[in-house]
Amino acid sequence: MSEKIHYVPIAKPCMGEPEAEAASRAIMSGWVTQGPEVAAFEQEFAAYVGANYACAVSNCTTALHLALLAVGVQPGDEVITVSHSYIATANSIRYCGAIPVFVDIEPQTYNINPLLIADVISDSLRDSSASRTRAILIVHQMGMPCDLKAILDVAHQHNLPVIEDAACAIGSEILWNGEWEKIGKPHGDIACFSFHPRKVITTGDGGMLTTNNPEWDKQFRLWRQHGMSVPDTVRHGAKQVIFESYPMLGYNYRMTDIQAAVGREQLKRLSEITERRRYLAQQYQQMLADVPGLKLPTEPDWAKSNWQSYCVRLPEKCDQRQVMQVMLDAGVATRRGIMCAHREPAYQIEAWLCGSRECQCEKANCDRLCESEQAQDRTILLPLFHQMTQHEQDYVVKVLKMACQV
Ligand SMILES: *Cc1c(COP(=O)(O)O)cnc(C)c1O
Repeated sequence: MSEKIHYVPIAKPCMGEPEAEAASRAIMSGWVTQGPEVAAFEQEFAAYVGANYACAVSNCTTALHLALLAVGVQPGDEVITVSHSYIATANSIRYCGAIPVFVDIEPQTYNINPLLIADVISDSLRDSSASRTRAILIVHQMGMPCDLKAILDVAHQHNLPVIEDAACAIGSEILWNGEWEKIGKPHGDIACFSFHPRKVITTGDGGMLTTNNPEWDKQFRLWRQHGMSVPDTVRHGAKQVIFESYPMLGYNYRMTDIQAAVGREQLKRLSEITERRRYLAQQYQQMLADVPGLKLPTEPDWAKSNWQSYCVRLPEKCDQRQVMQVMLDAGVATRRGIMCAHREPAYQIEAWLCGSRECQCEKANCDRLCESEQAQDRTILLPLFHQMTQHEQDYVVKVLKMACQV
């Protein structure tokens, strides 16, 4: 007899003694913010994804902000992105005083539809002068790699930089010139990662920027520490008195050494975590294949997701909230599909565009973003975490099948 299940959470961080010891090591060392642990974490992270440079910051939102600044996004510029993402993606564009231009997603992968990008790049958007588009910010949603080849083709034709919001995509891979490469190499110009507990590995909070451009990497390092000319570590180790200066406006976007020490331990577990998540996703794929009307996520043959989230599209007859409630009543936590920024009150002012003057959209209901809205309204995310047992997964499947019958 297997134990009765009381509750299956949507996610659970995979941490233990090694992380606790690492945090303690940083605390006992006497150096607790951005220092030697951060430097080591950056090196190990860069090696893992195959990037020349990695710069640690306080979270992925601040990483996105710095990435946009580095490629030259200025007030009034337009940045092409998706509405269908965690709100931080679009917010980071607004931090620069720029305007998000939302493009719809593909219903199968929940990622930006590359065929719709060229259409919104033009100068024909609102004025007939030079193009106002400054960058493309794509999202590897729920860990599924975007169609980078197609996106980069369009971007290169228009000479636009590509930033990858890889908040969820640590460990995900893409087939590139015949080889599997990690997301974050980066394939665009800059990739941004998150270590929030809802992601695959965590430092409590935390973020990372990867790039192959040494100038941008230098910029990130200045900006994250108040624009200060001399890092603390250098001043601390110097035999001569150094006076720092502040050549530019900076921010406090530092990661602490306590977080980085934890991150280094998490990185060691990443291969095992990714493997386990892929196994669990495959199990869902098999066990849910026969549910009438239920649409399972598809993985293109050039992509390997880390399955940060496992998202299913409900049968037509099912009500999303009702299915979720029935499952919760049975002790299974779910989440609705990824949100759409354009439907939130924070975006009800003239804070965004959908790229069409003709669109009759009433903000929360945009014709041009209907796949995004459908994805939010018609999908749910199922529990998937490293420690999930066979028994728990069987139970989630059973409860979902029951909820779809109601
Ligand atoms: C979680 C997430 C973010 C924000 O990450 P933080 O580290 O919490 O700032 C940004 N974009 C996407 C797609 C995310 O899922």
